[in-house]
Amino acid sequence: MSLYNIGKRVLYRGFPNKSSMPIRHYKVLSIETSCDDTCIALLEKNDSKAPPKIIDQVKSTLNSVATGGIIPTDALRFHQTTLALLIETLLKKHNCRPDLICCTRGPGMAGSLSAGLQLSKGLAVAWGVPLIGVHHMLGHILVATLPKSEQPDLTAPQYPFLSLLCSGGHTMLVLLKSITDHEIIANTADIAVGDSLDKCARELGLKGVMLGRELESYVNSIKQSTIQKFDTMETKELNLNSFKYKLGLPLKGPRREKYPKDIVFAFAGFLSSIQSYKKDKGGLNVVLDQETREFISYKLQEHVFDHIIDRMNLAFTKHGSNKRKYEHADGKFLGVKDLIFSGGVASNQRLREKLATRLQFQDNDGEVTDLNLHFPDLSLCTDNAVMIGVAGIEIFESLRIKSDLGVCPIPKWPMDSLLDVEGWVNVTPEEYNQVIQNK
Ligand code: AMP
Ligand code: ZN
Repeated sequence: MSLYNIGKRVLYRGFPNKSSMPIRHYKVLSIETSCDDTCIALLEKNDSKAPPKIIDQVKSTLNSVATGGIIPTDALRFHQTTLALLIETLLKKHNCRPDLICCTRGPGMAGSLSAGLQLSKGLAVAWGVPLIGVHHMLGHILVATLPKSEQPDLTAPQYPFLSLLCSGGHTMLVLLKSITDHEIIANTADIAVGDSLDKCARELGLKGVMLGRELESYVNSIKQSTIQKFDTMETKELNLNSFKYKLGLPLKGPRREKYPKDIVFAFAGFLSSIQSYKKDKGGLNVVLDQETREFISYKLQEHVFDHIIDRMNLAFTKHGSNKRKYEHADGKFLGVKDLIFSGGVASNQRLREKLATRLQFQDNDGEVTDLNLHFPDLSLCTDNAVMIGVAGIEIFESLRIKSDLGVCPIPKWPMDSLLDVEGWVNVTPEEYNQVIQNK
């Protein structure tokens, strides 16, 4: 088998039509170790049209409360001590030997990625099965093709569709025209939304592993009467609230009818707003009283999510087709009917509520219209191995490619260059049939 960069021009010959395959029954082991979670999953595919079934999944997370952040060498050691044992237990429990291995190849921390990838290569050699090196963000997106418990009647998204990825490492709006054709519509200019929420929550004295989720719980614990009082106070200027806390929406736009060339998110300013407030009150170690903490936490979470909505609506106008609203609207989003939310922050209920009620999408005629909003199950929003399996299976089945056994992790792997990296090789028809017809 030749070893080459497959690009986007590859032709697939010798394969029967996907839908006419008589037998399909195979199991997939998927592995995700891009950061501090060791995740594995066992999936089963037995229908060409239906999504894979989840047989089981396990996740173990490095405890970094004491260090106040993830130390890459600690994460590597954690995967090395955890991963093989988890796999051994899972496979013994289900008494099976998988037919395909899918593992995160990037982006992520180099050491963490290599822990998963090296073990995956070893298993692929031992079992004589193909390996698929998966793009982590594609996993976050394609996991939305699985049935959702809160939206049982929603059918899987159809291309072209949009995806808003809100995680600890990324914040981006992506237009997907096919599994390989991705355009990043908006990206963060500084840090990711999850990173910002985590840092702000730490600055506000919250403790835990997923600090964005801790912040959500903390805000949810504020009395309703207090929230109503906070809602009457603005933060655009210091003197508009009794706490003298200033916080506005970054980059709110369009400014004077001018749409920016690149639409960006910006989340670093939220952290600065808390740090400057604390400095004014006596220094970064100052302990804020309970009501002040509640006020800042509430306003902060609201503003972070309002900023996301503001940027999304800007993108909808710029790439919609309503020339009355914006004469240079380019119609890029024509035909889009589905919008997927993914990443850990997308599990936040307040963000989901705002997205469901405040987005203003414009259709072909420039009218505001409904999009199908897809909210994956909460356990599939944060990093998990199911998403890597789902994306790997899709790559294997629809592109008929696999990773060669010399592939290395790609710590920085742009979402729009899924295939423009070395290490993809064609799967032969015999090899393909051997996987999908295994019993
Ligand atoms: P990921 O990078 O996709 O694994 O997501 C992890 C990020 O999501 C971290 O920054 C978490 O703090 C954040 N996160 C997880 N759950 C929530 C939640 N319910 N609300 C806000 N942020 C969350
Ligand atoms: Zn992630």
